Amino acid sequence: MHWFKVTKKRYHKKVDDYKMKRISFKNFSIRRLLMRGVNEIRQNAKHPRVKLILFATAFLWLKTLIAYYVDFSLGVQGVFQHIILWLNPIAFGLFFYSLSLLVSKEKHSRRVLLLLVVLQTLILYGNILFYREFSDFLTAKSLFSSQSFKMTGMTGSLGALMKWYDFIYWIDLPLIVWAAKKKFLGREQSHRFNKRYGLSLAALAVVIFGLNLQLAEISRPQLLLRTFDRNYLVKYLGLDFFSGWDVAKAVHANKVRAEADESEMEPIMDYIKKHQVQPNPETFGIAKGRNVVVLHLESIQQFLIDYKAKDENGKEVEATPFLNSLYHSNDCFSFSNVFHQVGQGKSSDAELMLENSIFGLSQGSAVSQFGSDNTFQAAPNILRNNGNYTSAVFHGNVGSFWNRNDSYKKWGVDYFFDSQYYALNKENSLEYGLKDKLFFRDSIPYLEQLPQPFYSKMITVSNHFPFPYEEKNASFPKMHTKDETVNGYFNTAHYADQALKEFFDYMKKAGLLENTVFVFYGDHYGISNSRNKALATALPNADAENWGDFNNAQIQRIPALFYIPGISKKGIKAGIQSTFGGQIDMLPTLLHLLGIKTDQYAMFGHDLLAKDHPNEVIFRNGTLVTPKYTVIESKIYDTKTGEELTDRLTEEEKAAITAKVEEAQKPLDFSSEILSNDLLRFYQPEGFKAIDQTTLNYSDNLSRLDKQIKALGKNYRSVLSQHGNKTTYGLYKTDAPELESTIKEAKAKAKKKGLPDYNTLAEKAK
Ligand code: MN
Repeated sequence: MHWFKVTKKRYHKKVDDYKMKRISFKNFSIRRLLMRGVNEIRQNAKHPRVKLILFATAFLWLKTLIAYYVDFSLGVQGVFQHIILWLNPIAFGLFFYSLSLLVSKEKHSRRVLLLLVVLQTLILYGNILFYREFSDFLTAKSLFSSQSFKMTGMTGSLGALMKWYDFIYWIDLPLIVWAAKKKFLGREQSHRFNKRYGLSLAALAVVIFGLNLQLAEISRPQLLLRTFDRNYLVKYLGLDFFSGWDVAKAVHANKVRAEADESEMEPIMDYIKKHQVQPNPETFGIAKGRNVVVLHLESIQQFLIDYKAKDENGKEVEATPFLNSLYHSNDCFSFSNVFHQVGQGKSSDAELMLENSIFGLSQGSAVSQFGSDNTFQAAPNILRNNGNYTSAVFHGNVGSFWNRNDSYKKWGVDYFFDSQYYALNKENSLEYGLKDKLFFRDSIPYLEQLPQPFYSKMITVSNHFPFPYEEKNASFPKMHTKDETVNGYFNTAHYADQALKEFFDYMKKAGLLENTVFVFYGDHYGISNSRNKALATALPNADAENWGDFNNAQIQRIPALFYIPGISKKGIKAGIQSTFGGQIDMLPTLLHLLGIKTDQYAMFGHDLLAKDHPNEVIFRNGTLVTPKYTVIESKIYDTKTGEELTDRLTEEEKAAITAKVEEAQKPLDFSSEILSNDLLRFYQPEGFKAIDQTTLNYSDNLSRLDKQIKALGKNYRSVLSQHGNKTTYGLYKTDAPELESTIKEAKAKAKKKGLPDYNTLAEKAK
């Protein structure tokens, strides 16, 4: 039993040690620790090696800032964002460079430092070159897939991407070597070196990063959870953080994907086939062969439709008079009970549903996470396969936002015109891009060239949170709720409606109405639940006092319009429809109107015009709304009256409703499975073929469009060709106060970049 006694003794010693530690822990003081840290850094900052590291970090900081301001366009706004930008290169540079102090021998330590400096420079400069070509940052995927290099021919054009001042990005290397050699930072021998210097520098870096993260969270909450945009990650947390984050994400996603196999797709397709409904024979194919123009209405909610407010003279003004006129038109299928179904991915979730009829994720943006890598069977490719459609998306913001420039390639979008194709200046743009009236106007020179039939989408931005009030663009009566955001919302929505009207007036003059179907949809709520009470005080028939979860659910309705000019003359009755549905249903509805069957695709939506539409809608958070019941978590309400029924229903009724909710939630889980395991790569719909995405480069739209037009030869039909190849740009009339400065900006930009000057062409065409 001797060994037992020994271990017992040891055990008691350990316990005593532990108690001792606890006691000393009691005397712990953050202040003392901080003081000690500061002291230590002050002490070791005198050491030549530490000085060299600070010297290298300062250079990295300087050249990163040069890249931020000169080569990247990060959209930095306001003093606070500039402060974050100035702070973010420090932490990682300091951290990495301090690793060299873990090597005690001076010579080796210096070599490690130089190696790290070269590595940092490669990361920075690689991103600069890539950004000059793609207006985006390098990702693990773009780096390791030889495809993307083929696609760009970048390897061949490296020289063309370099600029005269690029030596600045490398100048620190010889300077650091020189500083180390010349020992002008002091001599090693006169100081005692301690590896702990490295640790305390690294600790300082961690503290700086913590501060950085905190500031970023204040400026842009949920930055990492939602991952809007690569630009955002770099702007707030720096290039190093972004690169590391991206690699970690790619490794994780690859692992999940690698473990999936085709058997996982079978039960999903079984479910889809079992739940499919037959298209409505009365509406199937009524828009066959028409062009499609989708209007992605930023933050437009259904309560705006037919909303009126009194102006100073007591005269009633409609919030969205143009949308109202379509809503009540006999040529329009207008839905009064369609809801948005987005999660945190907001606009990107809306687009994912619109183009694929697949739900987003319960957390984060599916398009940001999987848009670059996954297989999709999306509308642009489906329409190319069925009717030879050319597809284009127009958006007056940077293409990297919500990972659009990558995912659009996967969806088969032929041409994506992002902010690089527009002339933005301080006056004509808001935080999220070009103001709508100018955006529509300046899309015309591209839209008119598109070979017909085309499938196009216009993504508006003016009605975006925080709905800033601008005197010169304000023409709706001032609202007087307690919430300024709510008040601003009515005004920006009114402006957005005016912009739509200007665009339609143009479409009419250009002769596009009769051969086009227009799809309007609100992308998500504009007024969040926390502001709905204030909003309710301005809504007719709303009870602000008793506003609750039920009301928050009901106000998630969005406009969903399928406007097909001329169909009423052909004896087809459109008008307002009361079917309950959501954004997931938009694509099957559209495809059926165009006469394209959807039964072979992995789509979770149903044609809203089908007689057997399930007539219910599941929210991304699991809330179910049917004409009869609204189920929010465990509470059941009467959809018509809002009364809570939970305690009045029998156990059987409740069980039936719960089963219905569980059934309705299955497509949410199936969608997540498809997305995170990339399951569509195992599924081949008959006759479906995706475009070879290596042929798509959205920085090169105009020359690719030229090529397509030449290849079409005599078969080329477009607005332009129908107008004797003279631009119709001049037909667009706008009352935008920023017009003059926009034209000036556009002319200057065309001259500088050697692009066609459409404004001068339009003046000549008159
Ligand atoms: Mn949006």
